[in-house]
Amino acid sequence: MSSFNNLDLSASMQANLAQLGFSVPTDIQARALPHCLAGRDVIAMAQTGSGKTAAFGIGLIESLKPKLFAVQGLVLCPTRELADQVAKALRELARAQENIKVLTLCGGVPIGPQIGSLAHGAHIVVGTPGRVADHLRKGTLDLKRLSTLVLDEADRMLDMGFQEAMEEILGYTPAQRQTLMFSATWPGSIRKLSAGFQDNPVDVRAQVESG
Ligand code: ADP
Ligand code: MG
Repeated sequence: MSSFNNLDLSASMQANLAQLGFSVPTDIQARALPHCLAGRDVIAMAQTGSGKTAAFGIGLIESLKPKLFAVQGLVLCPTRELADQVAKALRELARAQENIKVLTLCGGVPIGPQIGSLAHGAHIVVGTPGRVADHLRKGTLDLKRLSTLVLDEADRMLDMGFQEAMEEILGYTPAQRQTLMFSATWPGSIRKLSAGFQDNPVDVRAQVESG
């Protein structure tokens, strides 16, 4: 795929990508995006810096119903820093779309203000598994309208002991959701995680780029 124009993207997303200077999809974007846009479950492996955020973010944003003020996308990340980066990138990708609200929910900060923000509504939540699970237990986060779940840096989340929290979170999501797993490495534990979370996933692996 030589350009984003070959994909069935909205005019506002095309405009956004052009504004961000994204003229050509990266290898993982070219491989993963058609499946993400088609609503398939995807397990994608590509090295750091290969553009994985937009590989799941473009499809996630395109699938949102802006007028439905409910959490439709949830992105789980291993650390607060990564969650902040992903949220920033998603806000940039959604800039030309009407009114898309992206909220971060991470540990290490008081939970009260997050509860206040959630009460105002959000389309996408980006967070760390422990804090997202806390909100679900408290009933301050509702995932009944969730359509897409993303496990970003899934390998690192497993390394950090988040498997139980991820499984707990899954229990609060609708069964017919789309589940996207992104990872830089491909240990057997990733395949096991996929078997528990995903339905007939498409495997996509980026070519290792040189230079
Ligand atoms: P990863 O999650 O794989 O480590 P990121 O999603 O953080 O990678 O992307 C790495 C950098 O590449 C970011 O600065 C991002 O803005 C940029 N980028 C992503 N996709 C494209 C593209 N198609 N064209 C140009 N730059 C891109
Ligand atoms: Mg990333």
